[in-house]
Amino acid sequence: MKKKLCLLIIFILSTLFNGCAIKKSSQNTNSSISYTEKKGVNSSFNDKSIASSSKNTPKVLKYNDKGIPVIMYHSIKDEKDNPVRVSKESFQAQMKYLKDNNYTALSLDELYEFIENNVPVPEKSVVLTFDDGYKDNYETAYPILKKYGFKATIFVISDYIGKDEYLNASQIKELDKSGIRIESHTVKHEALNALSYNDQLATLKQSKESLQGLLSRQIKYIAYPYGKYNESTIKAAKAAGYSLALTTDGRWSDKSDGIYTLDRVFISGLHNLDTFIYRITTFDYDFNKVVKTEATLESEYSKAYAAFFDHKYKEAIEISDKIIDKDSNFFKAYNIKGISLCFSHNFEEGMKNIDKALNLNPNFGYGRFNKALAYELYGHYDEALLWYDKALEIDNYVWSYYGKASIYGRLGDASNAVKYLKIAIAMQESVKEEAKKEKDFDKVRNNKEFMELMK
Ligand SMILES: [Zn+2]
Repeated sequence: MKKKLCLLIIFILSTLFNGCAIKKSSQNTNSSISYTEKKGVNSSFNDKSIASSSKNTPKVLKYNDKGIPVIMYHSIKDEKDNPVRVSKESFQAQMKYLKDNNYTALSLDELYEFIENNVPVPEKSVVLTFDDGYKDNYETAYPILKKYGFKATIFVISDYIGKDEYLNASQIKELDKSGIRIESHTVKHEALNALSYNDQLATLKQSKESLQGLLSRQIKYIAYPYGKYNESTIKAAKAAGYSLALTTDGRWSDKSDGIYTLDRVFISGLHNLDTFIYRITTFDYDFNKVVKTEATLESEYSKAYAAFFDHKYKEAIEISDKIIDKDSNFFKAYNIKGISLCFSHNFEEGMKNIDKALNLNPNFGYGRFNKALAYELYGHYDEALLWYDKALEIDNYVWSYYGKASIYGRLGDASNAVKYLKIAIAMQESVKEEAKKEKDFDKVRNNKEFMELMK
C-alpha cells in the first residue's frame, strides 16, 4: 500500500518536472496533471454548491435585452505588477467562484445566438476569452478550465503560432477539440485602425484561412488587437466572413454594442477576487473602483485549498490549522487538512481529519469524496467505491464516476469501468482524453467495449 502511494507521488513529481522542462520560467506547469490530483481538488463539493445544486431546478434564463460579461484574459502566469498576466492562484480562485456560484461559461456560438437570435441563456452566464494565444493558456489555464468543465475561447495571432511563448500547432488542435475554441486575432497583431481597408481585409482573411487550414473548420470570430478598429474594420470583418467581433474595453456585452464591436470585461493581474466579483455582477461597474478584500476565514480557506491544488500540502495543513484555531467548527478546513495529510504519507491522521469534517457536516459532499479518494490512494478499493457512491448521493460529480471507473479499470473489470466512464464522458467530454492517457485503464484497454468508447 505504501509502495503504491510512493509510486503515485513519484508520478506526480515526474509530471511536474516534465512541465518545467517545457517552460523554465514557470513553477506551475500542470499540462499533464494526473487525474487523482484533479479528483482531489473537486471544488464543486462545498456547502454552497450543495445548497444550490438540486438537480431538477430549472435555471433562470435571460434574454438579449440584458448583457453578459465577456471576460478578457491574456496570459495566466505569475509576474508581479504586469496587468496582462493573471497569476494561476487568482485565475483558479476566479474559476472556483464561478463554479461555486453556478455560473455557465458560454461558447461564442452561444453568445452569437443570444445576441443575434435572442436564444436565451442561463441568467448567470459569462464568456471566457483569452487574447494573443500564450502557451500558459494551455499549460496553466486549460487544466483548471477542464476541471470545472468550462468552455472558453482563445484568440491567436496566426503568424506567432509555435514561436517563443505562444501556443504551438498541436496544443492549438488539442485545445480546439476539448471545448477551448480557437479564433482569430489577426496575422501579426496589427492595429487595424492604422491600416487601409485592403490591408485590414488581407490580415483578417489570411489569419482566418490559416487557422481554418490548421483546424479543418470554419473560423467565425475575431478579437481586434488593442481593441482598435474603425468603420472599415467592421466592413472588412464582414467581408472576410466573420460573424462576430470583440473589442478590448467597455463593460458587459449587449445588443446595443453591435455584433462587430462587442465590449469585454478586462480582468487584470492587479484585480483581486472581490474586484472580479464586482465586475461580473455589476453591469455598469465603475472602472476605477477596486474592492478591498477582507481577510475572512472563507478567504483563508481558499488559500488552503489553492495550496492543496498546487501540491503544497504542508502549507495547506498549516493554513487549515490556523483556521481551526479560530473556529473549531470550520469543517472544510479539517477536510483539506485531512486530504493533504493523506497525500503526505499520513493516512491515519488524514482520515481522522476527514472524519472530523464529516462529523461536523455529514452531508459534506467534498468530504465524502476525499474519503473515497484517500481510500483509493491507499488501495482500499471496496471502501473507496462505497464512499464514491456516498459522495454521489450528495452531488453528481464527474470525478466520482471517473474514480469508480478507474478502480474497476485497475481491477480489470472492463464492463464496470466502461459503465462509469461512459457516465463521466457524457458529463464532461474532456474526460475521454484523460482516460486515453490514464494508466489505470491499461488492464482493460484492449477490451472491445472500452476501445469503442475511446474512439
Ligand atoms: Zn492582443
